[in-house]
Parts: sequence; structure tokens; C-alpha cells
Amino acid sequence: MGTIIQKFGGTSVKNTERILEIAKKIVERKKLGDDIVVVLSAQGGYTDTLLKKAHNISKTPKKRELDVLLSTGEQISIALLAMAIEELGESAISFTATQLGIKTCSNYNCAQILDIENKKIKEALKEGNIVVVAGFQGVDPYGNITTLGRGGSDTTAVALGVALDAQEVEIYTDVDGIYSADPRVVKDAKKIDEINYSEMIEMAGNGAKVLHSRSVELACKYNIKIHLRSSYSWKEGSIVKGEDEMEKEVIRGITHSKNLSKITLRDTPHRLVDVINTLSNKGYNIDIITHDFDLERGATISCILKQELLESAFEVLEDKYPESRKNLIHIPNLGKVSVIGIGVKSKGVAAQVFKVLSENNISIEMVSSSDINISCIIHQKNLEKAVSLLHRELIEEAK
Ligand code: ASP
Ligand code: MG
Repeated sequence: MGTIIQKFGGTSVKNTERILEIAKKIVERKKLGDDIVVVLSAQGGYTDTLLKKAHNISKTPKKRELDVLLSTGEQISIALLAMAIEELGESAISFTATQLGIKTCSNYNCAQILDIENKKIKEALKEGNIVVVAGFQGVDPYGNITTLGRGGSDTTAVALGVALDAQEVEIYTDVDGIYSADPRVVKDAKKIDEINYSEMIEMAGNGAKVLHSRSVELACKYNIKIHLRSSYSWKEGSIVKGEDEMEKEVIRGITHSKNLSKITLRDTPHRLVDVINTLSNKGYNIDIITHDFDLERGATISCILKQELLESAFEVLEDKYPESRKNLIHIPNLGKVSVIGIGVKSKGVAAQVFKVLSENNISIEMVSSSDINISCIIHQKNLEKAVSLLHRELIEEAK
């Protein structure tokens, strides 16, 4: 007998009907003999509603209070599911992170899990309960409620998998699995049966929204399989697991992310480290960075960040380097297309990517690459076209 972790996302618990349906499936699974721990998100859309309520009161609510508020969504869904399971004749008990001891740092709105006490869960399981845990939340060393960042319930599920020594964590969502591109953009996108951790970390970090990337990093560290599947079809989904030595070097997927912008500081005497620190010390998350240095003209530094941060980041740089104002430029409305897979390192793939884009008159603003990822920053208006073209060339037509 083992321990199974089943995590259900917002759409799986969005109304009474869905809650009753998943309760039935959980009870059926329990009857096979394993211990079941369920992790839930808030009901679909509820976290956004709570955020709106906060912003109706204050433009800049205190992060601590925001976490007290946002964590309530999960508290509702766990109680409702526990009731639904009890209605079906099985015992269930729900726990918030504070009740359980899901300990995090004090970084409100984006806390990291430090430790999970498993004593309470183990006792509850021993008593025959299905244990239902609130995802996305934690408690800091001073007893304050924290949250893990949007989409963080996946990370709670994997962390519980680690704490309870589970072999696999099942993550139920509203899609059948992980796809080789966003099926709304590429109609021939294929479901991926198996993907390794590093590829999935890149996919999640570059626009594939199916899994919280920190959950995959954690699963990788502790070698826990993630089975991402649908709570509508209940079919086999996609497995995220360790590297397989025999695996063919393939391109696994083409992801994209929108609403990016680029800031460039031209011909500046300032050092890269200072410019980047100026932004990161103010909390800006910077993506691709490029740096050119010329002995006479100085450095040209560019970085990519979210469009919504462009204006304020620009102001930060203008304030810090007033003499460089005329050398500060920005390009809005950009997007990123990423080609991901261990096959990226094969000869010629990068050249193939650039050829496809250039033959279709899609100009590239910036490039970054690693062994498993080639990302190009392009104008957002070309983004979906680029995804489709690269998918066709590198996945559909690949031998
Ligand atoms: N309810 C939270 C959110 O909407 C956490 C999650 O769904 O994983 O981001
Ligand atoms: Mg999610």
C-alpha cells in the first residue's frame, strides 16, 4: 500500500457538480487500498475575485494582508470537498497549511516551502481518512499566513509528495496533458506522453502554463514523477520524470509568452552588474540580458521584462542614470518563442530556427540559448505565426 497525492486545480472544483464528481473518483481510488492525500486550488476564478476585492480597497495592499485574503479561497474548496467525500460514506478531513505545519519563509506572495510536518497527515491517514490539504498556502516561522505565488498549489502537491515519500503526484487539470505547443495556436499540437524534468522546467518557465515551474524543480530534486492529466476525461495524461538515457534527441515543444518589452541602455559607462542590480533590487524580474562592450563607446545593455513593468522600470533607470536619458530606449509589444527539448543541441537546429523566421520575414530582437532551449524575442504580432511555423518544421515534419 502506498500514498497517492492527487491535486485538483480550480476548474475541477469550480462548482458543486464538479466537486461531487471528483469526490466520487477520489473515493473509488481510495477503495483500491492506497492512502489518499488530496491537494486543492481555490474554486476557478475565485483567487482573481479576491485580488479584485483587495485592489478595490487599495492599489498597493500590504503583502501580508493579501496572503491572509488569498489563502481563503483554498480553505473553502477543501472544506466543501471533505463534506462531499463524507456524503459518499468515506471519512475525510481537511487541513489548512497552518493547521498542518506547511512551513515557508516570510516572503509574502511568493514564499518558498521550507519544511512540511507529516505527523498530522500520517495520523489522519492511519485513522482511515482521505486527507484534503489547502494548496498554495503556508505559514512562516512567526505564524503568519503566506502564499506561494499564483499557481502554487502544484508546488504544495509535490512538496507533500516529498514529505510523504510518494512515488508519483497526480495533477488533475482541464487539459489532457502537456502539448507540443498551445493547442489554441497550433491545431496539430501533439500530446506529449513523457517529458523529462529539465525540458518541463523550460516549458513551464517559457509560457506553458500547465504546471507551476517550481513544482517541477522540486519533483526533479527529489525524483518524484508527476502525472499531469484531465479531471474531465480521466484518461492517461503526460508523465514528467527523470532523464532516460535511451531517449531520442527530440524537440519536445514550442512555447510562447506574450506581453514583453525590451529596454536598452546604449553606450553607457555603467557596468552591467550595476544596471541589472538597479532593476533587480527594486524587485523587477528580468529575462534575457545581452551585453556588448566597446572600448570607446562603453557598454550596451539590453534586457527583457514584462510589458506591464516597462514604464516604471524605465523611470527607475532614468532616475538612477539621468545623464544617460537620451541613450535609454525601449521596444514594447514583444513576445518570446522558445524551441525546447534535448534535441536542441543537435547540429543545425539553431540555424534551422533562424532560417524559418527569416524566410518568413520575422525579425529577431534578441536570442538566448542553452542545451535544451533556443528562445527568440520577436514582435508580438508575429508570435503565433512563428509558433506554427516552427512547430511544423521542427516537430510535425521531423523524422
Ligand atoms: N488559487 C491559486 C491561484 O489561482 C493557486 C493555484 O491555483 O494553484 O493562483
Ligand atoms: Mg494551476
